[in-house]
Parts: sequence; structure tokens; C-alpha cells
Amino acid sequence: MKLISYVFPIYNEEGNIDLLYTTMSGLVEQLDYRCEFIFVNDGSRDGSLAKLTGLAQRDPRVRVVDFARNFGHQIAVTAGIDVAVGDAVIIMDSDLQDPPEVSLELIREWEQGWDVVYAQRRSRRDTVFKRLTAAAFYRILNSLSEIEIPKDTGDFRLIDAKVAHQLRQYREHDRFLRGMVAEIGFKQKPVLFDRHERHAGETGYPLKKMLRFAADGIMGFSSKPLQLISRVGWGMAALALLGIVYAIVRKLVFPEEVVSGWTFTIIAILFVGGVQTLMIGIIGSYVGRIYTQVKARPLYGVQATYGVPARTVAPTGYEDNAADTVRPAVPGDIT
Ligand code: UDP
Ligand code: MG
Repeated sequence: MKLISYVFPIYNEEGNIDLLYTTMSGLVEQLDYRCEFIFVNDGSRDGSLAKLTGLAQRDPRVRVVDFARNFGHQIAVTAGIDVAVGDAVIIMDSDLQDPPEVSLELIREWEQGWDVVYAQRRSRRDTVFKRLTAAAFYRILNSLSEIEIPKDTGDFRLIDAKVAHQLRQYREHDRFLRGMVAEIGFKQKPVLFDRHERHAGETGYPLKKMLRFAADGIMGFSSKPLQLISRVGWGMAALALLGIVYAIVRKLVFPEEVVSGWTFTIIAILFVGGVQTLMIGIIGSYVGRIYTQVKARPLYGVQATYGVPARTVAPTGYEDNAADTVRPAVPGDIT
């Protein structure tokens, strides 16, 4: 029987874990598959961990990876994929915004031979602000990046074991998983769904994190912002030339007139200063990301695991130079 690994990142989801677990258990009973539920506790500050360890004690299908601190959603999902041994891995939010029953549809499409089945929002119940910014973001992203990243698509998706295997080799720090999966390729297919509202608790993605994430998406998949700098440079050089010609001609035609230059000078200085600082900022963002990457620190730290066979996860995270990166299933591992 094939094994499906569900990956749930958990950050302060105390109020959702029980419902999520009961819904999922009920759902997978209809399936002719074995399942494992991988919960990655991303440094929750509430009672999430206690709930999860309780589940792990009762149910051998439950695996819990407990991070040493909060590493962020994308890293939590990464750790879940690192641990997963299924023939397919399904990534889902834990707040029931991604309807569990849609995962069955993902599995159906996978059985039809698709390697990546991503859930695309037909509708979203978000604030007007979030909808507008998301639309703008995907427009910018797709106009900049070399690969096609599907719009209205989060991380809710099914990936085949071979895609998961490939994804495990991507150890970049500032992660944008949906972009990586798009880049990996294979046979990809969307499934439309209606996204629900968060069941309980509040979002772990405040505006600041969202902006950072958007920047990761753009900078992780495009170097066009860097090319933009030279374009702006050309534009400014052209403006400078105009200014020079103007100043010289004026000096030649009215040699005795003192140019009342203060306004013009101050505008020029502020304009050049502003644009330059902005451009250095773009370079700085790339340099910062290079710096993080070059340090080559582990992506995450695990302080404890529950129900996870010991070989799968090293204390400092996944060992990507291991000869065989996918842990073979241990007999009697999963009921
Ligand atoms: N999450 C996480 N670490 C974080 C923030 C969020 O693991 O630092 C998890 C969270 O528990 C949820 C998923 O990522 O399962 C999506 O987060 P959330 O629902 O808060 O984001 P939103 O749906 O509001 O964009
Ligand atoms: Mg959510």
C-alpha cells in the first residue's frame, strides 16, 4: 500500500490541532493508503506542543518534530519534507484554511500521473488589502523571474516522492518553496479550491514577515533588480548630460548672468542621493542573502522528535550530503 505523508507546520495552533487531527483521521479512513502525519512545531508559545506529543503517544502515524525555536513557516515545511518518507507528500496549513477534503482531490490527480498537484485558489476570503497586495506581488514576481510561478497558489500541494527528493537538495536559506517546486519542473497540475477562513487563533504572517517573504520570492528567483540598477544608471547619465548641456549653453549665451542655482542644485543632490541609496539597498539585500548562504549554517535546529524514526533527522537538521537522502521505510513503522 502506498504511503502518503502529510506535513503540517505548527506555530501557535493550539486551537486548531484537535479539529485538524480528527478531520484528517476521519478523511484518510476512506483511503486505500497508509498515512503519516508530520507536525513540525515551529517554536510555538502556546500549548501546541503538548497537544502534539499527546497525539504522538496515541497514534503511531503521528510524527512530531520540535524545533529549538521559531524558524518560520517555510523552514518548518522544509523540515517536514525532510522527514517524510511517503510516496507522495502533501503540504497543508494547520489552521484549516486549506480544506482537508481537497487533499483527496490532490491524491486523485497524482494517481493520474501528475507529479506536482498544487491547489489554486478559486476564491479567497482575505482582506481587500491582502488580495490587492497578493495580486500585485504575483504580477511583479512573474514579470521578473525566469520561471513561471503559478498565481493564487500557496504551499498547499501534493508532491511526488521524486519531487520531494529533488527539493531536499535545495538548501537555500531564504526560502520560497512554491518557486523552488515550480523550478524543479516535472508534470504539474492545478486543482481549484475555495480557501476557508482561519479556524482559530491568529495569523503567524504579519505584514513585516509577508514583505520579507515577498522579497525572498523575487530575489530568490530573479536577478533583474540588479539589472535595473544599471538601467536607472543609464537614465540618470542621460539626465546628467542634459543638465550639463543646459548649464554650458546658458553660460555661453548669458555669460554675465549669475545662475540662480540653489533650487536646482539642491534638487539634483537630493535626487541623486535618494536614488543611489535605494540602489545600494537593492545590492545590500542580495549581499545579505549571499552572506547568510555562505555561512552555511544548518537550516533549523531540532530539540526533540516524537514518533520519528531516529535516522531521519539529525539534531542540526537534515544532512544533505548523506549518500541516500531518503530514509527507507522501517518495517512496522506505520500502522
Ligand atoms: N507557521 C509556522 N511558522 C511561522 C508562522 C506560521 O509554522 O512562523 C504556520 C502556521 O501554523 C500555519 C501556516 O504556517 O499552519 C500558515 O500560517 P498562517 O495561517 O499564520 O498564515 P496565513 O494563512 O495567515 O498567510
Ligand atoms: Mg492561515
